[in-house]
Amino acid sequence: MSRQIWFLTGSQGLYGEDVLEQVARQSREVADLLATHSDITSEIVTKPVLTEAAAIRRTLLEASADDSVIGVIAWMHTFSPAKMWITGLDALRKPLLHLHTQVNRDLPWSSIDMDFMNLNQAAHGDREFGYIQTRIGLTRKTVTGHLSNPAVVSRVADWARAALGVHAVRTARLVRFGDNMRDVAVTEGDKVEAELRFGASVNTHGVNDLVAVLEEVEDAAAKSLTAEYEDAYAVAPELRSGGDRHASLRYAARIELALRRFLEDGRYTAFTTNFEDLGGLRQLPGLAVQRLMADGYGFGGEGDWKTALLLRALKAAATGLPGGTSFMEDYTYHLEPGRELVLGAHMLEVCPSLTRGTPRVEIHPLAIGGREDPVRMVFDADPAEGLVVGMCDIGDRFRLVGNEVSVVEPLEEMPRLPVARAVWRPHPDLPTSADSWLTAGGPHHTVLTTALTREHLYDFAEALGVEFALIGGETTSRRFAQELRWTNAYHRLAQGL
Ligand code: MN
Repeated sequence: MSRQIWFLTGSQGLYGEDVLEQVARQSREVADLLATHSDITSEIVTKPVLTEAAAIRRTLLEASADDSVIGVIAWMHTFSPAKMWITGLDALRKPLLHLHTQVNRDLPWSSIDMDFMNLNQAAHGDREFGYIQTRIGLTRKTVTGHLSNPAVVSRVADWARAALGVHAVRTARLVRFGDNMRDVAVTEGDKVEAELRFGASVNTHGVNDLVAVLEEVEDAAAKSLTAEYEDAYAVAPELRSGGDRHASLRYAARIELALRRFLEDGRYTAFTTNFEDLGGLRQLPGLAVQRLMADGYGFGGEGDWKTALLLRALKAAATGLPGGTSFMEDYTYHLEPGRELVLGAHMLEVCPSLTRGTPRVEIHPLAIGGREDPVRMVFDADPAEGLVVGMCDIGDRFRLVGNEVSVVEPLEEMPRLPVARAVWRPHPDLPTSADSWLTAGGPHHTVLTTALTREHLYDFAEALGVEFALIGGETTSRRFAQELRWTNAYHRLAQGL
């Protein structure tokens, strides 16, 4: 399906046809500048200049109703009396960006006259528009500047990516194979509230529904998929065709084929598994989950549907960017003073988008779960700047907690650790990061992304209407704890009774 961002220009009838034609032409020029930016992957669709309330309302209702529209950009080229915008903006249900720009970068000092002044009024036209958005209480991103400035376009592009993430959440269908891991708190949450706030549907299937699909997988299909593995990865000799344990690789391929079929047939975009609830599955899905994440599916281990939704959204936002985005878990620490690091991994399920290298495919015992040894990809995440983000349900709302991190080379090799992993230095340092994360009640399951930045995440959280507490280079534990208290008060007031 195509993804569109509608570009709306406000004006009024007062100026006459000539001026309105000029406004329409220049509006298309500005929209075209955005459309040619390589990082804006959605189609920019310029709508006719809006000059009266009925057309404004109809256009914003259409944008809200059209599933291909992921967001709306508005610009008041001239002066558009904002009472005309009230009922339309009040009806808008898509992310909104207010572009505060003008066609000319420089004042034409020697030629400026009253005609020019009449045509180029965004400096006050957009203030009228800003007032009405604030008066209505609309959440939006405001971007100021001339589009010849790459920093300005880049802020629009970041919002456009965040809007893709919001769209992915709003249209998400998540299937859980089995329930949450027994007794775990943070992976629980209100699925009814999630559907109301996010639009995401979260439902459970018994894992044996998946096993039934697996039993229908044709041998030839599994065989050809194992050949694909042997081409794409450094597959351990014992797993290769003719090796002692090739049957295990064949079974891993059957899991992948069954999962794909199940997800495609159900139009699911995210899923969870639970090592405690594997029914007739002979291996915990490892390789299959890793490959499905690489294709853009959301995933959470141990029934963690919130992290699976978040991963699905951030993968959609990051599509086409360098770097990777994966399910992750803070696993264990290096606590050498001044050089503190986090070793992140999971039992198996880390997405290979985190490396440009060729993952090894290996088979090893899993200390828990009591099934056959699972096949998995093993690799180190490439060094890069990134973000760790988690979502928790704190009772009256959902909260996103983020931490800026630098993924680094492991200090030494880890030859006896046969899982995919990432080693990172959290900002500003591990003690401040972990103090703050724990104070925020952030989860242990997260999404690690080396593709997205704090700007994407701020825009995503704002447009989704969810709290985002960020730990970054400027954070202090005490200030962060205070901010959480203030924002607690804010969010409780803002959601009303
Ligand atoms: Mn886990």
